[in-house]
Amino acid sequence: MSALIGIDLGGTKTEVAVLGGQGQFLFRQRLTTPSDNYQAILDTIHALVEQALDATGVARPVAIGCAIPGCLDPDTHKVRGANTLVLNGQSFQADLEQRLQCRVPVQNDANCLAVSEAVDGAGLGAAVVFAAILGTGCGGGIALGGKAWQGRHAIAGEWGHNPLAWPSAEELQVPPCWCGLSGCLETWISGTGFARDHAFAHGGELSAVHIVQAMRSGDKAASQSFQSYLSRLGRALAQVVNLLDPDCIVLGGGMSNVDEIYPAIQAQMLPYTFSKTVRTPVIKALHGDSSGVRGAAWLAR
Ligand SMILES: [Zn+2]
Repeated sequence: MSALIGIDLGGTKTEVAVLGGQGQFLFRQRLTTPSDNYQAILDTIHALVEQALDATGVARPVAIGCAIPGCLDPDTHKVRGANTLVLNGQSFQADLEQRLQCRVPVQNDANCLAVSEAVDGAGLGAAVVFAAILGTGCGGGIALGGKAWQGRHAIAGEWGHNPLAWPSAEELQVPPCWCGLSGCLETWISGTGFARDHAFAHGGELSAVHIVQAMRSGDKAASQSFQSYLSRLGRALAQVVNLLDPDCIVLGGGMSNVDEIYPAIQAQMLPYTFSKTVRTPVIKALHGDSSGVRGAAWLAR
């Protein structure tokens, strides 16, 4: 396999990477995303790609993959649902193809995580990978046979705005989600949701990282919040198993770094899966922050 180039357009950083035939990094470079200026975003990506080609001597490829924090609407081919708002409504793919003079397959960043982990990450060899990003928000993506499965409306896997399943009476008392609904998973199992719930139950304004630190130091309130978090994540993943029954579930985003999740999560899922013999592995993403750019590069195959 020849070298592959991927771009990860994030809300704060834009990264380009060149992968060699064994999936090794030949080059990677990041710049701040000029997130309030669409033309400047195109300029940044263009500059990064030219830099990558110059530095590696790789010939201009026929395709360069790109991960975005949103999706391309299959009907209009314009960006939809991006939290980098200037992207929404833009013919991003066509504009980028014109600038880079090659084909640019574009995918949602959670789908890129799923692809990256299915090709040579924690989901290596798994035919069906469900990937969840548990960070500021809560995204999900699916890879089938190592390829992104985006669905009819490019929302396959986006279960973050489904409601928390089997809620207790207390769990029905939540503030509305930014999406206009209430009770969404994102309100609970994103890092932001974890911190919100801890503040509601115990006061203070600790970040998710600080709550986890407090739990490890034996803080009772933090432990309680984490147990609630595990229960909610278990219910959320049980729904994924009931609907998709993937060969493995990969977790990315800030909360995926909480190692205490992994030995405990199966027991939280099992009461809610339709079969009691479910053994779906739930694994931390192998490539961490690089999953977006690696998955984007694999799109160019
Ligand atoms: Zn929502």
